[in-house]
This record gives sequence, C-alpha cells and structure tokens, in this order.
Amino acid sequence: MNSKINGVKENYDIVVVGAGHAGCEAALCAARLGLKTIMFTVSVDSIALMPCNPNIGGTSKGHLVREIDALGGEMGKNTDKAFIQSKMLNKSKGPAVHSLRAQADKKNYTQCMRDVLENTDNLTIKQAEVSELIVEDNIVKGVITSSGAEYYSTSVVLCTGVYLKAKCIYGDVVNYTGPNGLMAANHLSQSLIDNGIEIRRFKTGTPARVDKRTIDFSKMEEQKGDECITPFSFTNKAEDIERPQISCWLTYTSENTHNIIKNNIDRSPLYSGVIEGTGPRYCPSIEDKVMRFADKSRHQVFIEPEGEYTNEMYVGGMSTSLPEDVQYAMYRSVPGLENVNIVRNGYAIEYDCINPLQLKPTLELKNIAGLFCAGQINGSSGYEEAAAQGLVAGVNAVKYVKGESPIIINRSMGYIGVLIDDLVTKGTNEPYRMMTSRSEYRLMLRQDNADQRLTTLGYEIGLISEERYSKFLDKINTIKYHINRLQSTIIGANKEANDLLISYDSTPLVSGVYFSDLIKRPELSYGKLLLLDKKCDILSDDIIEQIDNFFKYEGYIEKQNRQIEQFKKLENKLIPEDIDYSSVGSLRLEAIQKLEKIRPISIGQASRISGVSPADISVLLIYLKTYNR
Ligand SMILES: Cc1cc2nc3c(=O)[nH]c(=O)nc-3n(C[C@H](O)[C@H](O)[C@H](O)COP(=O)(O)OP(=O)(O)OC[C@H]3O[C@@H](n4cnc5c(N)ncnc54)[C@H](O)[C@@H]3O)c2cc1C
Repeated sequence: MNSKINGVKENYDIVVVGAGHAGCEAALCAARLGLKTIMFTVSVDSIALMPCNPNIGGTSKGHLVREIDALGGEMGKNTDKAFIQSKMLNKSKGPAVHSLRAQADKKNYTQCMRDVLENTDNLTIKQAEVSELIVEDNIVKGVITSSGAEYYSTSVVLCTGVYLKAKCIYGDVVNYTGPNGLMAANHLSQSLIDNGIEIRRFKTGTPARVDKRTIDFSKMEEQKGDECITPFSFTNKAEDIERPQISCWLTYTSENTHNIIKNNIDRSPLYSGVIEGTGPRYCPSIEDKVMRFADKSRHQVFIEPEGEYTNEMYVGGMSTSLPEDVQYAMYRSVPGLENVNIVRNGYAIEYDCINPLQLKPTLELKNIAGLFCAGQINGSSGYEEAAAQGLVAGVNAVKYVKGESPIIINRSMGYIGVLIDDLVTKGTNEPYRMMTSRSEYRLMLRQDNADQRLTTLGYEIGLISEERYSKFLDKINTIKYHINRLQSTIIGANKEANDLLISYDSTPLVSGVYFSDLIKRPELSYGKLLLLDKKCDILSDDIIEQIDNFFKYEGYIEKQNRQIEQFKKLENKLIPEDIDYSSVGSLRLEAIQKLEKIRPISIGQASRISGVSPADISVLLIYLKTYNR
C-alpha cells in the first residue's frame, strides 16, 4: 500500500470506479440487486457524459442498446427520455441491419441518468479520484482514494474510460486533463501495473463544436428524424415518448478542405508522433481519412445538435487534432461552414487501458479475484459498448459477492456476447467498436428481437420485474399464437384478396393459399395483408414486425439455428481450469503458448484463439476425453 491513509475507512459490497456509460450500468445493477454499492467519479457533474458524438445507437450499436434494455439495463430508457431525434437506419436493407439511432440532448442525458442513480437504493455516489487498489493474495479488497480514504469491498469494478493518465492534444497544445477539461486520473495506472496488469496506450479523437448561428444551412441537406418513433426501451410505447424532433444536416468536405489538410499534415500530432496511443481504424480522424483514402474527392460531414437548449453543433465526420489555425481554415472550407465560429476545438485524447486478454468471459481479471473491468478500459470504444460491458461486469460482481455462478453471454445470444468474446479471446490492438459484420449470427441477433433473446436471462438475474416479465411472456405467447394461426389460415382466391394483391403488384390467387405463404412473398408483408386477416385483433407494430420477420426469414433462421446448435456443442465442452497445456501431447508450441496465455474456458473459445488451429482443437478434444476419464 503506497498511498498515505487519512483514517477514513468505509465498507461496501461493491466499489465501482467510474460514472461513465459502463460505471452507471454496473453500479445500477449492483445496487438494484440489493448490494451496498459506491460509485466513484472525478466529477459528479460528468455522470454519463457524452464527450464525443451526441447520439446513441446506430448500426450494431443500436443492437447493443436494445440488448442492454432487454436485460434490464438503463441506457435504452435514458435515451428515450433525452432524445431530440430518432431514426431507424438501414430500413431499405434487411432487418439484420436495421439499427435505431437517437440524437440525444447531452445535458438532459446526463441529468436523467443522474436522477436515476441518485434515487437508487443501496447506491452512494462519491466524487473522488481512486488512486490505488487494495489487493491481498491476488484477491481484491477495495480501493484507496488520492485523499487517502480507504473503501473496503468484496468486489471492485473498474470503469475508468478515457481518464487514466489522460492527455488531450491538438496541434502543439497538450493538456493533461480528461475530456472537456475534466481532471485526469493519474495514479491508478501505476497500481494496476504493480498488481501485474498489462497496460497499453490508446487514443481516440473528437471534432470541433461550432456555433449554430454561424452556419449556413441553405447549403446543406436536412436530415429529419422518423415520423413514427421506435423507442429504444421495450418498456416504452412510441406514443408515450413522442416529441418534436430537431434535424441534423449533411454537407461534404471540399477539395480545398483536403488540400488544407495535406498542406499541414506535418503539423498534425498524429503524423508528427506527438500522439503515441493507437487510434480506431473504424472511427478515423479527418486527416486520416484524407491521407488514407486519397482517391475520395469528398467525405460526408454530419452537423448534429448537441442539445435542445444550446447553439453548439457537433461536426460529425471531422474529428481532428490539427492545430487551431488549421482547424479554422479546414472547417471554413466546408460548404455551409464558411463563416463558422468554433466553440470548442477538436482534439485527440490518449489514455491508459488494459489488454483484455487478461480477462475471463465474465470480465473478471484472471490474476485478481473479484476485480472486474468494463468499458473503454478494456480497449473498446463507444458509449454503447461500454454500457454493455458495465452491465455484465456489474452482474458478475454481484454473483461473485453472493458466491453464485457468473453469467456469460455467448456469441449466439447477442452482440454483447460477440463484443466480450472478441475482446477476451481475440484481443484488440486498437479501440474496438462494434459492427454487424463481427457477428456470424446476424439474422438471429436483430435489434427487434433482443427481448426474445435476453429478457428471460434478465429476469433470472433479477433485473427484470415480475410485472415486466409477465408482459413480455404475453407478447411472446401472442406472437406464437398468431404465427400458428396464420400457418393454418387459408386465404381464398376471392375479389377482396386479389384486389389487394394487385394493388401491391403481387400475382393474384387462382386457388386458396396459406396466409403464411402470402406473407413470404417479397413484395408483401403481414402489415400489408392485415385487411385480409379477419380473425386478427389490434396488434402492436412490434408484434406485426415479429410475425413478418418469422415468416420472411424462416429458412435462414432455421439454418442459423442449426449453426448455433453446433456452436453451443463446442461452447459447452468445458476445459478444466487447471489443465497444463504443455502436457497435451502433439499440441503445437504456438498453440500451447496461446492457450496458456488466454486459458479459454471451453473448446469453443479455444477454437477462436488466433494461432490455435483446427488440428490443435482435435488434439485437445482427444486429450480431454482421457483427461475426464
Ligand atoms: C475526445 C473523445 C473522443 C471520443 N470519440 C469517440 C468516437 O469517435 N467513437 C466512439 O465510439 N467513442 C468515442 N469516444 C469514447 C466514448 O466517450 C467512450 O467510449 C465512452 O464514454 C466510454 O465509456 P466508459 O464508461 O468506459 O468511460 P467514460 O465515459 O470515459 O467514463 C469514465 C468514468 O470514470 C471516472 N474515472 C476514471 N478514472 C477514475 C479514478 N481513478 N477515480 C475515480 N473516477 C474515475 C470518470 O470520472 C468517469 O466518470 C470518445 C471519447 C472522447 C473523450
């Protein structure tokens, strides 16, 4: 113990370090499941801060938010309270990539989450910097703050985000602060290193915020929200959250923009080496885009409101750490921004995070019992990715305290499973952001059926109330009832039916067909055929959508279900914790090294480790047969 102690000694069941998107979910889980919990943050005014893009969701991230909600998390509900625009993306494509995205009023988002946290029983919020872990015999015992106060607990969840040894950079300006000038956390990294945790340096960036009054919107394309709003939370109805929406605007960089960047690239801290941290390939800065995609004559720029009661506008697609004078020239070279005033400069932030290969699929550290990590500290990037991990780490910290078996959400259950498995099995060398292409079961992991995949688990954990669960069961039974009914309902070749089919350019009937077969026609849908369904009660849009998706994708879904059965067989083949891979004859050296480092819990996880071949897996399977005997 290095810190000076000031005599304050407090006891809790769970300590959560961080009140960002991960910390909020973790702390709420722990407190709602009845454990005495304290949540630390360097500033209580930055609870659930959105330091970058003013939106929640989008492709694959919307899926994560829906899954968090289906499990009983808070992000979906909070977004439904604070959104100022809502849009279902990729509607013209298949349901696997339909993704909800909401523009949020950042201040309101923070305030709404703070209200929930401050009024949650068993939860204490403390503004203090945690500077040291208390660890005895590789078991976590609590934390110490920079003021010397000791907080003992059975479990600790680290959700430190972008604050550990944070450094904000633009041009040759370097500020040793967290985002938005908040205090950085400069002491905990050393304590992690002292406890054998491998640390690395990552980086991400954000664009400037500009003054709305200085933008010429006549040179931009208005991007409106959807008329019919889809709530993020399964507990909300569209009519309950409807409100006037605020538009975003689309413009593009110009050739001049690209020239300004190229002519000043030597002054970019990214290219001059001032920035050491590794940045996200899938969220590149504008200078990276211009240099890497030189063939592209222009890049999209989305002007997004930061909130309802502010003139600050976010310049999406132009995150940068170029010097201030270059930023002025660069932003003012964009059509519509010619006279723009910059309210906050764009900047890059470097921060310490851990190598996630040190984590179990439960998000507990392998070498320190009771210590869990979630969010940006695990090498991910994004509010949604952080919140998803926070929920899982929070639940598993509770399970640890109660001596119960942890939960593992695997790749076939949700994007949360894909996210965590990718991090702890494959690792990441840059900030990891979720994408639908990362899942092999995309059609099963749609945003519209997250409740069917995860709400029962949320109920078993204790995060879903009886009342909500019975409503959920009613919904499932209603869907099943109508699916069975439509599979045996015959639509006759009558005038009413054929007039409707013709109105949708669909081939008229010559004889009776099953209703379900009509729904399967590409040009039709259950929604379009409702007029023909005489026995149908008033069904909500989400139930109609489920019936549609069931019939439209029946074949694909059956195929994916068979693949998932195969996947589960390997996932359920558990590997003994104490296995000595060097004693497994004919395993290749590289495989032994990788397996020893990651210590997978199942054959399934082992098969996803890069450097472990199918032949190695066969050897392991044979070895386990004899091992178990
Ligand atoms: C400049 C910038 C640009 C970004 N750009 C993108 C982007 O382009 N795309 C994207 O997906 N995401 C981006 N992000 C990341 C996004 O903000 C994070 O992914 C998300 O906020 C992570 O959530 P988190 O809960 O892990 O951590 P954070 O939201 O960072 O919260 C961390 C919390 O931990 C607290 N804390 C940290 N250390 C301590 C300590 N020792 N003691 C007490 N409290 C502590 C802080 O006070 C804070 O409450 C950006 C972030 C920043 C700052």
